Amino acid sequence: MSSGNRTVYERLAPPAAAVDAALAHSRHAVFWLEDAPGTSYSPLTADSAADLTVVGGGYCGLWTALLAKRRNPAARVLLLEAGTIGWAASGRNGGFCEASLTHGEENGRSRWPDEYDTLERLGQENLDALERDVRDLGLDCEFERTGTLNVAVEEHQVDWLRDSPGFLDASAVRREIDSPVLLAGDWEREGCALVHPARLARELARVSATLGVEIHEHTEVTGLDTGAGGPVRVLTGGGTVVSDRVALATNVFPSLLRRTRLLTVPVYDYVLMTEPLTAAQRASVGWAHRQGLGDLANQFHYSRLTADDRILWGGYDAVYHRGRRVRASYEERPETFHRLASHFLTVFPQLEDVRFSHRWAGAIDTSTRFVAFHGLAGRGRVAYAAGFTGLGVGATRFAAEVMLDRLSGLSTERTRLEMVRRMPLPFPPEPAAALGINATRWSLDRADHRQGRRNLFLKALDQAGLGFDS
Ligand SMILES: Cc1cc2nc3c(=O)[nH]c(=O)nc-3n(C[C@H](O)[C@H](O)[C@H](O)COP(=O)(O)OP(=O)(O)OC[C@H]3O[C@@H](n4cnc5c(N)ncnc54)[C@H](O)[C@@H]3O)c2cc1C
Repeated sequence: MSSGNRTVYERLAPPAAAVDAALAHSRHAVFWLEDAPGTSYSPLTADSAADLTVVGGGYCGLWTALLAKRRNPAARVLLLEAGTIGWAASGRNGGFCEASLTHGEENGRSRWPDEYDTLERLGQENLDALERDVRDLGLDCEFERTGTLNVAVEEHQVDWLRDSPGFLDASAVRREIDSPVLLAGDWEREGCALVHPARLARELARVSATLGVEIHEHTEVTGLDTGAGGPVRVLTGGGTVVSDRVALATNVFPSLLRRTRLLTVPVYDYVLMTEPLTAAQRASVGWAHRQGLGDLANQFHYSRLTADDRILWGGYDAVYHRGRRVRASYEERPETFHRLASHFLTVFPQLEDVRFSHRWAGAIDTSTRFVAFHGLAGRGRVAYAAGFTGLGVGATRFAAEVMLDRLSGLSTERTRLEMVRRMPLPFPPEPAAALGINATRWSLDRADHRQGRRNLFLKALDQAGLGFDS
């Protein structure tokens, strides 16, 4: 491959020994979950009854339960979680809480040109409301409305940024974050906040319980019996809940409804966390405004500071395993962690002495339109939302409102949206799914090596409405 076709991470790769040293003492554990105090909730052990049963104790289920109590404090609301609160994606993500409900403007405008402006406004209102909830409910989740800094690390990416309102040239962007590979940036100030992901989940559970939501951990829902009418029977090993309404917030895990099983696939995303930086190390990178950081490649990295000045560094590889399973064994992938550590040292060569303390991974609930879908089943008694595609920290709160609107039979601005009414195309069954997803990933990597130029396969996907340009 000629040097012109190599990415900056290949042109300026650090010595392998430096990468090995940086990773040598890392543990496979989720930093956020270790750093989030929480209560445990007992499993369900007897039959019960509820006005609303929420399945899933990630953000989507937690917001649904909490907002249901806000709408109707007298309602009996149960939340059933197979593991523990926030153990899955909600407790292990990057903590970028985006206003966008559409995974960016380009994806949104191309799919819903007529309602994009409404979607943008509703997304902004959702983030503002979430910020108000954090403040008014006293959610201790290290919320910081920093915005994001999108950066160019290759010459061809600079042109993509030039017309953006927050454009920063090389010297201006390096005054924000000091890295020799940053060529330009765009600081989007309003559209994103950062949170401590696991604390947000556990705080939502704490407040929900205070409002009267009955939470049960280690309670897997094994099936729904919607019968001919009347209440739904929610089946678990510990007892059956007879419930007027049910909200399914099970994300990437096997759906309790056959109709949505082909609508998402789990794609694994990998993350490293450093030890806390010393004052001198912190000074060497600047980063006074603590923005979320993302680069513009198809295979992009995301990065941010924690409250104790660690750096989180994730993204790039996005790995799909044939068969659509969610498995703990997929979370350990040495070659990916090495690649991530190497890229980190390319971006921050001054941090060669910094060590990674944690490494982990999680499954992204990917849908073919890269945006969540919302639906209703069981003659209007069961609502569901999933497919957030790595954009669920903020969008799950919006999805919770949609589920509650629909379960109450309300017609609102939210429920009338085409984005909400229409379902995405399903993924094909195996082996076509694995072939298609892996060909897409390979092509996106090639595009990153060819100054962003997309091959025929990607152009065909774009035409079919299945393409994605981060
Ligand atoms: C590594 C990583 C980084 C990410 N970074 C970001 C980011 O920076 N910004 C962003 O916006 N998004 C990000 N995401 C995506 C975001 O985390 C998710 O979209 C969001 O957390 C989804 O929330 P959820 O409640 O739908 O799902 P989850 O948090 O996965 O919760 C679903 C819950 O349902 C439970 N469940 C499933 N089936 C059952 C059942 N049958 N019975 C009982 N319980 C059940 C599961 O145990 C689980 O706890 C990231 C994801 C990952 C993995």
